Amino acid sequence: MICKLCNEEIILIKAHIIPEGFFRPLRHGSTVPELHSNTTGVLPKRSPIGVYDKNILCEKCDKYLGLWDEYAHKLLIQEFSESNSVYNGSKKVAYQIISYNYEKLKLFFLSLLWRASISSQPFYKRINIGAHENILREMIINGNPGEPYDYAVSLAKFSDPRIKEMLDPHTTRFSGINYCQIYLTGFVLYIKTDKRKPPALLEELCLNRDPPFWIILRDINESKDGKILKTITLKAIKHKREQGA
Ligand SMILES: [Zn+2]
Repeated sequence: MICKLCNEEIILIKAHIIPEGFFRPLRHGSTVPELHSNTTGVLPKRSPIGVYDKNILCEKCDKYLGLWDEYAHKLLIQEFSESNSVYNGSKKVAYQIISYNYEKLKLFFLSLLWRASISSQPFYKRINIGAHENILREMIINGNPGEPYDYAVSLAKFSDPRIKEMLDPHTTRFSGINYCQIYLTGFVLYIKTDKRKPPALLEELCLNRDPPFWIILRDINESKDGKILKTITLKAIKHKREQGA
């Protein structure tokens, strides 16, 4: 087997795409989380430890990416709380992260997109970035996060902190500019896969070297995917209550 990062012929391991830690908050007691698609509903496979792929990475390369995975997990899951909220009067208008390492965080997002694209797992089948795969592979190997507009990253978060379920990632467009959209335990990640610069709104709100990193607030009731996630979350909460009773 050939590792898709180091290109060596070597034994491959069970490599996660979205790291396992990001799936952990979805577990409710003994219930195994379901995987969902915003186009086809519930995917047939349940996922106790997230989705892994046995055909992409060797142990050494998986551990290399794992350092950025750990950093992002700490910042976005372990240490992130409602205290990151930004208010205008009494109205929550955004979230922000005031201290972060641009290189590590950006490389996590880039490696996530790259892994989603090279994986042949059904959950990731709607992400296919073609020639960008090789460019990202080089950037990952060299530990090069690029400039803020290179594969510009913007992050949104659903306003309801109970939302942690994930839909399958897919491509999207903002003002005609190509992006990939990846759900991440209540966050929604947008990565530009286009040579043109980001559209005006996302230009202001993309991950930069200088803090803060602004996180767009998304109302679950104002979009199709938000409504789907709300339904799935309420179902999971109800199930958890019934189990506890
Ligand atoms: Zn390797």
